[in-house]
Amino acid sequence: MGDAARERRIVEEVPKKLLIGGRERDAAEGKTFPVEDPSTGEILCEVADASPDDGMAALDAAHKAQAQWAATAPRDRGEILRRAFEMVTEQADDIAMLMTLEMGKPLAESKAEITYAAEFFRWFSEEAVRISGEWKVNATGSGRVLVMRQPIGPCLLITPWNFPLAMGTRKIGPAIAAGCTVVIKPAALTPLTILKLADILAKAGLPEGVLNVVTTKSTGKVMGPLIADPRLRKLSFTGSTEVGQKLIEQSAQQVLKTSMELGGNAPFIVCADADVDAAVDGAMLAKMRNIGEACTAANRFYVHADVAEEFTKKLTDRMGSMTIGRGVDEGVEVGPLVEADQRDKVAELVDDAVQKGAKVRTGGQVPNGAGYFYPPTVLADVPTSARLVKEEIFGPVAPVFTFTEDDEAVRAANDTEFGLVSYLYTRDLQRAIRLSERLEAGMVGLNQGMVSNAGAPFGGWKQSGLGREGGDVGIDEYLEIKYVAMNV
Ligand code: NAP
Repeated sequence: MGDAARERRIVEEVPKKLLIGGRERDAAEGKTFPVEDPSTGEILCEVADASPDDGMAALDAAHKAQAQWAATAPRDRGEILRRAFEMVTEQADDIAMLMTLEMGKPLAESKAEITYAAEFFRWFSEEAVRISGEWKVNATGSGRVLVMRQPIGPCLLITPWNFPLAMGTRKIGPAIAAGCTVVIKPAALTPLTILKLADILAKAGLPEGVLNVVTTKSTGKVMGPLIADPRLRKLSFTGSTEVGQKLIEQSAQQVLKTSMELGGNAPFIVCADADVDAAVDGAMLAKMRNIGEACTAANRFYVHADVAEEFTKKLTDRMGSMTIGRGVDEGVEVGPLVEADQRDKVAELVDDAVQKGAKVRTGGQVPNGAGYFYPPTVLADVPTSARLVKEEIFGPVAPVFTFTEDDEAVRAANDTEFGLVSYLYTRDLQRAIRLSERLEAGMVGLNQGMVSNAGAPFGGWKQSGLGREGGDVGIDEYLEIKYVAMNV
């Protein structure tokens, strides 16, 4: 089968309808919306465009399935996740192609995301059977307290387009393991990967109504009534801080338990004693993974003046020699950005920095032709007044700043309302600990350019979010605590 035929086959095999109560169905009003390939601007297919009534039907289904799912043996819940982990892993080549077609990243990166994403199913299949409680003896010695953790109830999961699979499995895994039913709404730009995942979960034995999928272009109108419905007990959102803030406001009405994985503005600090080659390797990962479209992407490079030119030159050589093209093509290292608006925003931030005095070391120009490509770009001598110091770039652009004192680097790193991740390169252990403690972020990449790991509690400080996904605490987001106080 030729590549084009394989691409068509993979898109054709994905269910394009809403999944509600175990049934695939058209949107009530029969509407659909197109899904585009960002490398060509061509339409891949149409998917169901849910109305508010459809959204409500999905919540009805999740609510109806809740009691029985919560009563299902933890081992059985875990085994379904484990089977889904295996199926996703077996089908990684096809899922990678699907993800690359709708999102743009190179196939190798899609495969890496699938490994990461599937790991949340394996991790939470193991956590399902370890939900425990506590037994306490009162201080007076007379009473006892039995602490239990129970599934919170129907959850709404809203995911972004940048990691179409992992942002879903990171929420679906713990919700299902905990005994919660869900309605998931993937980003309108990349709905196919979650539709495919839902199909896999059904084949892995997930009962009807436990996972319901709503794809829509009328996001606010469809999600609003669900968030206001008292049957919904939890909202887990990954996306921009701007939308997250609105959702927190809406959730206040019902005092809904929320998890918020929001935007980032990661600093990447390279000290004078750092291994510069290792720092460049880490920078390539922290900057270029996902074409820079990651909440964890390094947004600002603070490099000690003694090594700044060496670092900038090596980074420029690496970034300037990357192969740009359709993510499905062999050897491509940089795919397109997800849509025209995203590409225009990146270009605007670079133009703003250049106008204010930044020097372009490589890249910096939107190429001609189809697709939403932007070249890997390194900027030096960036003034602190440039907008990209404060704003999330979400593209392949590395602005380099210099510093001379550790304090100066830490102050600059923390001078943001975000606090998701910071990267730090130094060979001095004491400095590493000292600076890691002072960085205001939920995660620190110490001499490494990537922090993601299903076994670790991913999440941000400040306006980067609330709650944690993954690790020992990931399942707690889907559990309520209750204690029974008793006299003995
Ligand atoms: P976004 O615009 O906030 O959208 C995220 C999701 O929210 C999409 O499914 C979107 O649906 C939905 N949405 C938009 N408006 C909504 C509303 N009024 N009510 C309910 N849902 C609404 O973010 P994005 O552009 O997709 O993703 C990029 C952002 O996500 C970046 O800021 C990035 O840092 C952040 N992110 C954070 C993490 C983390 O773990 N901290 C991970 C990945 C990404 P539509 O597609 O229909 O608009």
